[in-house]
Amino acid sequence: MTQATTHEFQAETKQVLDIVVNSLYKDKEIFVRELISNASDALEKLRRTQLTEKKIFDDNLELEINLSTDDSTKQLIIQDFGIGMTEDELVKNLGTIAHSGSKEFLEALQGDGEKNESLIGRFGVGFYSVFMVSDSVKVYTRSWKEDEEGLCWESDGGGSYAIEKADGQRRGSKIVIQLKDDFEEFAKEDRIKDIVKKYSAFVQFPVSVNGEKVNTVDAIWLRSKSEIKDEEYEEFYKFQANEYEAPLMRLHFSADAPLEINSLLFVPKRNMEKMGMFRSENKVALHCRKVLIDAEPKNLFPEWLRFLRGVVDSSDIPLNVSRETMQDSELLKKLGQVLTKRFIRFLNEQSKKEEATYLEFWQEFGALIKEGVATDFTYKDDLAKLLRFESTAYDDGKLTGLESYIERMPSDQKDILFLFGKNRKAIESGPYLEALQARGFEVLLLTEPVDEYVMQSLREFKEKKIISADSDELKLDKLEQDNPGESLDKKSIKKLSKWLKESLEDRVSEVETGERLIKSPVCIVGDDGMGGASARRIMKMMQGADGEMPASKVKFQINPNHALIHGLHRLMEKDEPTAKLVANQLLDNALASANLLDDPREMISRSYQTLEKITSTA
Ligand code: ADP
Repeated sequence: MTQATTHEFQAETKQVLDIVVNSLYKDKEIFVRELISNASDALEKLRRTQLTEKKIFDDNLELEINLSTDDSTKQLIIQDFGIGMTEDELVKNLGTIAHSGSKEFLEALQGDGEKNESLIGRFGVGFYSVFMVSDSVKVYTRSWKEDEEGLCWESDGGGSYAIEKADGQRRGSKIVIQLKDDFEEFAKEDRIKDIVKKYSAFVQFPVSVNGEKVNTVDAIWLRSKSEIKDEEYEEFYKFQANEYEAPLMRLHFSADAPLEINSLLFVPKRNMEKMGMFRSENKVALHCRKVLIDAEPKNLFPEWLRFLRGVVDSSDIPLNVSRETMQDSELLKKLGQVLTKRFIRFLNEQSKKEEATYLEFWQEFGALIKEGVATDFTYKDDLAKLLRFESTAYDDGKLTGLESYIERMPSDQKDILFLFGKNRKAIESGPYLEALQARGFEVLLLTEPVDEYVMQSLREFKEKKIISADSDELKLDKLEQDNPGESLDKKSIKKLSKWLKESLEDRVSEVETGERLIKSPVCIVGDDGMGGASARRIMKMMQGADGEMPASKVKFQINPNHALIHGLHRLMEKDEPTAKLVANQLLDNALASANLLDDPREMISRSYQTLEKITSTA
């Protein structure tokens, strides 16, 4: 290449540049952190390349980062002797935004400013932050590959950039920043030293400013907890996880057996997945005695912990092992298990000691804990302790867990009970709670569609069965107190039940009286095996709103003490066609209460017929 070539930035990149330059980042100094972080990555990549490649350009250079400031020319230079970039890499890395979700990102950016700040780091717009403070930026670079050439990339952050040949470059990248007048503070040695000290404490390579070394290469996770200030943890998290907000929780954990482990784990404040943008990936970096082995090791933590950030360091990991073999190794599995167990224990402790923080965690990441309960057999029982639901024991909005549920259980209650409904009010107005409340039994109120599935996968907790209160697995003793109202006599009940079964023949499998109904006239009872009410709701959830459900018959329970049932009995003798309409209508209502009314159209047309009957005699 002899002449400079001009390139247009990719359209999305232009948009991002525009946003970054004009509106975001109150905290301008962040660009220094971004560039040092890139330099550190480039050195890390070189170190790895050196393990496998013999021929490396400028192989005798130290792995270090050098900053220099020039007050008089308003320049800041950041140089690393890392991996460098070829022409293609320059175009790809600095001309486009690699992330496949950039479009979603741009859409999400329209939101509030605080959210924007935390989003921007995640999408790797790090380098572009330099354009907040600069009139022009030059990136001189020379790849580690022997037969490449030195290059200079230049842009003012507008629509385009130019690349030209630049002889005499050392390996790595040198970023020359021409600062805007407003930001000449970043060309001052003291200011830059302060910033670098703050962030470079976590860089695993020496960093110097104007020839003076400013960091001690020191891994925070290897230091003793009592010496580390909260701010240090926070700065480390922001640096390492590329985050803009402080973490919600942290666990600094060390062990000697069965494996030697030092780890520092963080839970972010927000669950980005909840915003429906993309799936998180495990970003807990794996180290061996401070040396980075893999920044994003696969298979270290189970899938449902993909929100975790931080580092794990173990001297038991062999340094020379390849990433691929590492990912399948027994050692990694073991390491993951020890840490996962410890982390679950930590969450459990937090739920007791720091309840408010835990509930914040539950709001953001509860869905992932549920995912763990439903999909990960290994940790299912431990994870179950972390579940939180609303309950009849508390007012609206307060959550409780299975352990405290068991503590509150009266001695004559055998099972853990739950009910699912669209919301708390819907469950409370249904027919199922009355019998349980009359007996002093607490019921967990599940309102997320996935909750019922989670409970069905769990099946039991501390040797107590977990069952849906509308299931026929629930056996209730006869209530001491009398039902209000007088019961139909045995003979009439038998007759009415038989008649109901015949009249509703393709809709019900059985008609029975039970111990469940007090104030309500009827309800549906399901068995929890396939075809039961619970299973049907889960199938419905999986199929989505428009899914067609095969017709199936249900168990119909009637309350022989209820005036409506008395009335139906009389009507059956006098006017059978009308009685049939009423019976169907009652069944419709019971199905609706159980969230099982698949198609309201039939019910509506039936209810018109009933109304017609009533009004015709007017
Ligand atoms: P991120 O670092 O999050 O990937 P950036 O926009 O900061 O996003 O950088 C984009 C890419 O440019 C990096 O992934 C890397 O490949 C390349 N890059 C940036 N700085 C350097 C550097 N100093 N040396 C080598 N490559 C670099």
